Parts: sequence; C-alpha cells; structure tokens
Amino acid sequence: MEEHSTEIAEKPDLLASADLDALNSAAPEALLEWAHQYGKRAAIVTSFQKSGCIMIDMAHRAGLTLRIVTVDTLRLHRETYELMDRIEQRYGISIERFTPDPERLRQMLAQHGEFLFFDSRPKQEHCCWIRKVEPNNRALQTLDLWITGLRRDQSPHRIAASKAALVQRENRPLLKLAPLADWTEEQVSAYIAAHDVPISPLYDQGYTSIGCMICTTPIKPGEDKRAGRWRWFNQYEDDHKKECGIHIDGSGI
Ligand code: SF4
Repeated sequence: MEEHSTEIAEKPDLLASADLDALNSAAPEALLEWAHQYGKRAAIVTSFQKSGCIMIDMAHRAGLTLRIVTVDTLRLHRETYELMDRIEQRYGISIERFTPDPERLRQMLAQHGEFLFFDSRPKQEHCCWIRKVEPNNRALQTLDLWITGLRRDQSPHRIAASKAALVQRENRPLLKLAPLADWTEEQVSAYIAAHDVPISPLYDQGYTSIGCMICTTPIKPGEDKRAGRWRWFNQYEDDHKKECGIHIDGSGI
C-alpha cells in the first residue's frame, strides 16, 4: 500500500497543560479518550504486537477516530501484513504506513547488502536506523502525542515505563503515552479473549516479540520476551541492546 500522506493540523497548545500525574493514574480507555482532543496530531503508533491491537480495539469501541500509524520496514513477516489487512477490514480503518527512504535504503543495500545485520552490532543498528528509526521519526514529525504499546513486563529495559511522559525528539517535545504500561500478560490475554481482538498468528508459534523477518525468532521456555530478537548477538548482550532505537530516549518510557 502507498504511504499515507499526512496533513499537519494546527498544533494545539496542550503539551504544557498536560497533568502527567493524572495521566499516569488514568485507565487506558480514559487516556485514549484524552488523547483524542489532539486530533490529527495524535496517533497510535504500533508494530501490531498484542498491546497495539488492543488499543486499536479500545479506540474503536469508544468511537475514537485516532490515527493508526506503523513503520513498515519492508521486511515484516507475511503474517504481519495479513494482520494489517484484517485489522483494516475489521475496524473499517486505514493504517498509515511509513516506509524507509528509498534512496537511503538503496545506498545501504548497495554498500552493505541485504543481510548486513548479521555482520556486527553497528551494522544492525544502521539497518534499524534506515528501516525503522528514520521512518518513525518522520511519523513523529506529524505528531504532538505519540501513543505506544510499551509495557513494563516486555523487557528489563522497559521496567520503568510510565504511562505518560514528555520526551524530546529531534529538538521538539512530544507527549508519549503508554496506556497499557502497567498491564500484565494475563490482562492482555483476557482482553483479547473477551473482545476477540485480531492478533498475529506468530504468537502461536512461540514468538513473543514480533518485528522483521530473520531478526525476530520464537523464544524458548524461560527466556526473556525479547530474547528472540537478533538472537545471534545474545552471547554479548546487555538488555539495552534489545531495542532498535525507536524507544531509546532516556525517558524511561
Ligand atoms: S530488525 Fe533487522 S531487518 Fe529490521 S530494521 Fe532492524 S536490523 Fe534491519
């Protein structure tokens, strides 16, 4: 699908008035409703993990017309593309897809080849920057309010994630919400079952964190939920290295 062009609406002066304490104690549905006042300057930005799918369902049930934005690295699993189609049909929405800059991608492939992420940590980070972080930054340029599916139980790095925090991206402030930050896997499963939320079939194959093909693999019993990412680096890892860069901003969220 063609990348959605985004009209930048008038920026409402809401960041300064946001009561972070109140937002941090609000229920997920209330946070989504509050976010709705930002209009086109707010979006659920999701890679279609379970949390993102739940928030899309919550917004739909509440009649909220929030933008749904994703970064399509062009290396996603077939199942992820099929899930996007199912979600669009189920909720009658159009997902905005931000893809890598074609010229930057062409240069990277010409210089390093398609499988550069196997070579070294710096090359993997370069690939993630070209395919994920830069398109994500472009998406964030259209937003004042960034809604994510981060949860504290997803990795040790995310243990301090708050539901609402002001973050800086490219020298401008953004309000970042993680409405399900304090949800457990049991709460997630219960919501999905209760509302028949469409999720990726890859979870049934042992995946707990779903990103690009090859770079995401199923995990074994007892492993960290993000252990399946860049598995060939596991022997060297500290937990910080289990992030692609999209959520590394020093905010704890
Ligand atoms: S997860 Fe892998 S393929 Fe995807 S952007 Fe990062 S290094 Fe590249």
